[in-house]
Amino acid sequence: MKEFKCDILIIGSGLTGLVSAYTLSLLGYKIIIAEQKKAKKNQKLLKDIRTTAIAEGSKNFLDQIGLWKKISKFSEKIKYIEVIDREKINKINFFNSTKNNNLGYVVKNSKLTKVINQALIKKNNVILNYDSKLLTVEYLPDKIIGIFENKKIISKLLLAADGKHSTVRQKLNTPTFNKKYKEDAFVMNFFHTQKHNNTAYEYFYKNGPLAILPMQSENLNFQSSIIWSNDKKYLSSLVLQNDKLIKEILEEKIGNVVGKIKKINSKQIFSLSSHINDRFYEKRILYIGDSAHSIHPIAGQGWNLGLRDIKNLYNLAKETNMLGISIGSKQFCIDYNEKCYYDAFQLYQITDKLNLVFKNNSLLLNQLRPFGFNLIEKNSFLKKQITEFAMGFN
Ligand SMILES: Cc1cc2nc3c(=O)[nH]c(=O)nc-3n(C[C@H](O)[C@H](O)[C@H](O)COP(=O)(O)OP(=O)(O)OC[C@H]3O[C@@H](n4cnc5c(N)ncnc54)[C@H](O)[C@@H]3O)c2cc1C
Repeated sequence: MKEFKCDILIIGSGLTGLVSAYTLSLLGYKIIIAEQKKAKKNQKLLKDIRTTAIAEGSKNFLDQIGLWKKISKFSEKIKYIEVIDREKINKINFFNSTKNNNLGYVVKNSKLTKVINQALIKKNNVILNYDSKLLTVEYLPDKIIGIFENKKIISKLLLAADGKHSTVRQKLNTPTFNKKYKEDAFVMNFFHTQKHNNTAYEYFYKNGPLAILPMQSENLNFQSSIIWSNDKKYLSSLVLQNDKLIKEILEEKIGNVVGKIKKINSKQIFSLSSHINDRFYEKRILYIGDSAHSIHPIAGQGWNLGLRDIKNLYNLAKETNMLGISIGSKQFCIDYNEKCYYDAFQLYQITDKLNLVFKNNSLLLNQLRPFGFNLIEKNSFLKKQITEFAMGFN
């Protein structure tokens, strides 16, 4: 069996694995990324048609590490957010008054991945191995070994960026708290007849939230993305209907906020679940991004939270590097856990409960909801707090 050595072995080349590799490469570490998928030209898998809403705080970090300039070319600004209750008279409008800041940015996942991959190719201390499925891990006294079908990779630290069904977590039996939602998410990108005016909309229907995110225009066509949580059976039958019927159903749901739906460009269903690990580390292993936590997409914060893990890891690694301490020590892993766990736990709870409260159809909550909407709409302090949360500032 072939043997390779590096400082950091990253399992998974999703958005978290790629940005982690890029960020840590800035500190001079020798990094190997192992990805189970085949290289793109050999892939027969479905393309990820999703968009990601990147918060202002995440954008600042991406800028700090030198990735934002390239990503921004493919992004659309979110300047306003309109939150609308199922009774459409209840509304809250959010905007940001700070100069040069936006509430967020919307980028296609395929573009994000491409830009980050291109930046990584230029780094000669990073190797990306496709067709490399991690089977298990073993330990040496001061090293960790990733075992693959035909090779071993020995490193000082292993970063598990292998998503919500993490192999690493399963092999090490790291305990988690899991939740399966009754709903799935229907994701659809579409052209429409009117400008979106850089506004994101969130409708809270009783079967689940429906969000519209503004996207960059393509060939002079106004474009947006819909993410609609709803009953699994309903969505699996909806996605099979002809586009004319889907347009009619969605136009009824979203009204005329972006005009008529001109063309559906893509549609796909994602199953919804969430989890949080009891801890974000094992000996010489750190869980990062969706392998550590996955949350309901109601607030579009999942990858933003993963980016905060990466930022904390980068700052810790920088300190360790300056002190000449080897990365991956027990204290290093504990420090990472302390910096990331509480933030993730809090967001996990907020997104889960937000979904629960808005879906709840009890008489009492139905009566309280208009009061709640009115209270927030008229209270500038509360609004500022929520705006800062959406921007990733608290
Ligand atoms: C409908 C929907 C909308 C969303 N919208 C937003 C949004 O607007 N904003 C936001 O911030 N977040 C959003 N999210 C969340 C966001 O998509 C995820 O948080 C993010 O994609 C997770 O990236 P990751 O790299 O951690 O995991 P993944 O993307 O799951 O990547 C894991 C990688 O590891 C690889 N892998 C797995 N096992 C192995 C193994 N054994 N060996 C080698 N490789 C392995 C996989 O092949 C994969 O490439 C949304 C999620 C959903 C479902």
